Order: sequence, then C-alpha cells, then structure tokens
Amino acid sequence: MTSASRTQAALEEFIALLGRDTVLLPDDDQHAYLVEWRNLYRGRTPAVLRPDSTEAVARIIQIANNHKVPLVPQGGNTGLVGGQVPSEDGQEFVLSLSRLNRIREVDASGNSMTVEAGVTLEAVQQAAENADRLFPLSLASQGTCQIGGNLSTNAGGTGVLAYGSARDLVLGLEVVLPTGEIWNGLRKLRKDNTGYDLKQLFLGAEGTLGIITAAVLKLFPAPLKEEAAFVAVHSPEDALALFNTARAQAGTMLTAFELMPRIGVDFALRHLSDTRDPIERRYPWYVLMNLSTSQPDASPRRLIESILSGRLEAGQIADAALAESLQHSQEFWALRHGLSEVQKHEGGSIKHDISVPVASIPAFLNEALPAVEAFLPGARPVPFGHMGDGNLHFNVSQPVGMDKAAFLALWDDMNRLVHDIVLSYDGSISAEHGIGRLKRDLLAEVKDPLELAMMHRLKDSFDPNHILNPGRVLKTD
Ligand code: FAD
Repeated sequence: MTSASRTQAALEEFIALLGRDTVLLPDDDQHAYLVEWRNLYRGRTPAVLRPDSTEAVARIIQIANNHKVPLVPQGGNTGLVGGQVPSEDGQEFVLSLSRLNRIREVDASGNSMTVEAGVTLEAVQQAAENADRLFPLSLASQGTCQIGGNLSTNAGGTGVLAYGSARDLVLGLEVVLPTGEIWNGLRKLRKDNTGYDLKQLFLGAEGTLGIITAAVLKLFPAPLKEEAAFVAVHSPEDALALFNTARAQAGTMLTAFELMPRIGVDFALRHLSDTRDPIERRYPWYVLMNLSTSQPDASPRRLIESILSGRLEAGQIADAALAESLQHSQEFWALRHGLSEVQKHEGGSIKHDISVPVASIPAFLNEALPAVEAFLPGARPVPFGHMGDGNLHFNVSQPVGMDKAAFLALWDDMNRLVHDIVLSYDGSISAEHGIGRLKRDLLAEVKDPLELAMMHRLKDSFDPNHILNPGRVLKTD
C-alpha cells in the first residue's frame, strides 16, 4: 500500500469514528492548527481530528497504528519549538485535544483537581481560585495554552522558583499509549514508592511517548497577601546580590524573581498600550520580584521594604517602585509578560531559551552580550526572564534597518555562538520550551551519548511504529 492510500484509508476510518463535523479537512478552516505563534513553522495536514473523549483518542491511535500514519498531538498551539505543528509534507494528522475540556473534580480538602488535557491553563487557575486554592503554574500564554500541552512540555514560567515546574505539580495522569491502551494513573497519592514513577516519562515528552488525556494536579493555599516590586539595578551582579538577600530574608515567600534589560522595557513601552515606565529614570537592568503568603499574620509589605531599603543603603539597587494596588502590580507584570510579544514589532528575533547555574548568570551575560555584539554589530540582545531559576530567554533582535531575512539566516550561527557559551557554564540549551523540531539536531550534538541512547530505547519500546509525533525530540527515521 502506498503512503497516500494508507492516509486515505485512515482518514475514512477517522471520519466514521468521529463524524464529519469534528474532522477538519483541507477545505475547512485549518489555519489555526497549521501555523505556529512566531510563524517559524507552517504545515499541512490531511485532517485535524477533534475527539472529545479518552476512548475516542484511544480508537484514533489504534487506527493510526493499523495504517501506520503519523499523529501530531496539539493543545493550545503556543509551543515555541515546532513540536505541535504538522510537517510541510502534508502526511501528518493533527490530533487536537481541545475538546477534552472538562474539569472532572476539584477536591479542595485534598488539595487536588482532576482535569482533562484540553482545559486552558487560565481555566485551571480560575477553577482553583473558585475553590480558594492556587494552581501556581503561570505563563504569558495561559489564556490559550492547555494543561495537556503544559505537562507535555514540562512548562516553567514565573512560579517555578516557589512551586517547581509543571512536572512538580502533578499527582497522577491518564495517558493513551501509542498502542491505543488507556493507562489510568489518576492517583491522588502524595507518596507512592511502588516501582518506577511512570508518569514522569510522559511529563516533558512532548507527545512522543503517549497522549496525556487527563491529570490530577496539586493545589496550594491561596495567597492572602502579595507584594510586587519593580527594582532598578546597575548590573546583573547587583541583581544576583538582591536575589540572594531576598531568598535569605523572605525564604519561601519569594515567589518570583524576573530580570529585564532596559531595551526590553523600551520595547514594551513602545508597543504595548496602557503602559508606563514604573521608574522615572533609566537604568540598565530591572528586577520584578513578588512576595506572597497565605499566612494571615505575615507582613510581606514590611519585609519587601526592609529588603529593598537595606540594598539601597548598600548601593546595590538604584531605585525601586512598590506596587500600591493590585492594578499597579498588574501593570508591572504586563510589562514583563509582554516582552515576548513586543519583540515581534522590532523585526527578526533569534531565540535562545537557556539556563545556567543561578550564580553564573552575571558571568554568562558578561560573556554572551559582547560576543553577540562582536558577531553582528548593531544586534540588539534582549535577555530577560526567570533569573531566580537560572533561566533566561536570551533573544536577539535584528539591527535597526537590516533585512529581516538576512538576519534570520544567521539563526544557526548565532545559536552556536550563544550555546557554546551556555555549555561552558554547564548550562542547558533548552530550559523550559523543550526540543520539538527546532532543537532536535542540536540535542543530538550536546546530549551525553548514553542518555541519548536511553531516550531512543524508550521511544522504540513505547512507540515501535513511530506514529506519535515522529521527528520531534529525537530523529527516528
Ligand atoms: P502545544 O503548543 O499545542 O504543544 C506543545 C507540545 O506538546 C507539542 O510537542 C505537542 O505535540 C505536545 N502536546 C500537546 N498536548 C499534548 C497532550 N495532551 N499529550 C501529549 N502531547 C501533547 N513556556 C514556558 O515554559 N514558560 C513560559 O514562560 C512561556 N511563555 C510563553 C509566552 C508566550 C507569549 C508564548 C506564545 C509561549 C510561551 N511558552 C512558555 C511556551 C508554551 O506556551 C508552552 O510550551 C506551553 O506549555 C504549550 O502548551 P500548548 O497547550 O500550547 O501546547
């Protein structure tokens, strides 16, 4: 059988299973499923499959296996490494999880909730809040991304410092395996040492080992008091000193510590509506930090004031603005959350999602910034992000006036330059966005050969026909 006839036979069975209404063919409006947020990837597909139950997902996988046709799982399509977009050859079916969007249970007294994969992160946060609890995963894409995608990418975001990344927030999973078997691992146990922790295999696997259809998530006490400060510092060294002081004095109350360069603030002020500069004078670097607590007697306000006044006296911070209201704090965060978006308005941007040990952030920046400038005079680095986790989005915007295509043609060379510096600090070339297609070949270069071999063995044993997200994370053909 040719690949075209296998595709056609599978398509007919998919339509018979799901009904024509929930299968989008090329003549239907497939656009939102085929184009990635940054427009770096555009694909084609014979059909977008939109099941609304775990059983239907299992049947789809069985059909795909029988006909050996590839499936690309997709949640909110906000992934930044091309994993969820079908390839250009038009052979991969898109398996959208969006219609599995029920909140099955909120167990406030057990501090957990059970949700299906297609619930948006924002809806998960809202359901937790309605039960007077917190689900702490927080990303700028939270209105669109879905919990299945968050878990499959092991998403990070601004809450990692206090609560860990997505994989730390999961108690149990329901997964459809590449064989079509349904694994019901929806347990609520906080402790369970009965052999391998299988759920961890699927968290961060980017849909290459199974389809996450539901999850039991951990909930936390809702914060009663929160304080945000926008702090100007002269250097990344001073930002690190502030981080260590805040960590020492606030302990687990320190829930976010984000670094931003002046150029990022300028971009945000230029391209976001309703923004204002939190601090009148211009400084080279800024920190946005949050303290929060669920303890009624604690005073994060007094604490943050004491931390900042101590650092001001020591000359380690230049100035600071404290949020005077919830709206004021939201304004600070709007600047930070807008940083990815605003770079789109400044022409081409070459991305690096890197991590180094937290204490190495200043040394890394002191080496990488001049190296980029020497490589391409006029290039505008915008390194920002989760400094408290050692994770920066070391993005580089094109020189003003340069041709965008010519700039983007430098993507691989710029990546190599920056990643070599990252690796010299024992860092990672993908801190939170994953590997997908964007970094697959790079992964093969930098990963320890035995680790890579173990990953291939896992893939081959779970998905011998390579029908689930082939070519993502690992080169399998
Ligand atoms: P998708 O993009 O649809 O898919 C992502 C990957 O998971 C793909 O490989 C896909 O095949 C697979 N997948 C999706 N659903 C399932 C499933 N149910 N089962 C198995 N595999 C599945 N990421 C961060 O970590 N931190 C940030 O701070 C952050 N900020 C962002 C800001 C913006 C403005 C944008 C656009 C993106 C940002 N991201 C961030 C990246 C992105 O939002 C995350 O990777 C998110 O977790 C992806 O979720 P999604 O539902 O959109 O998944």
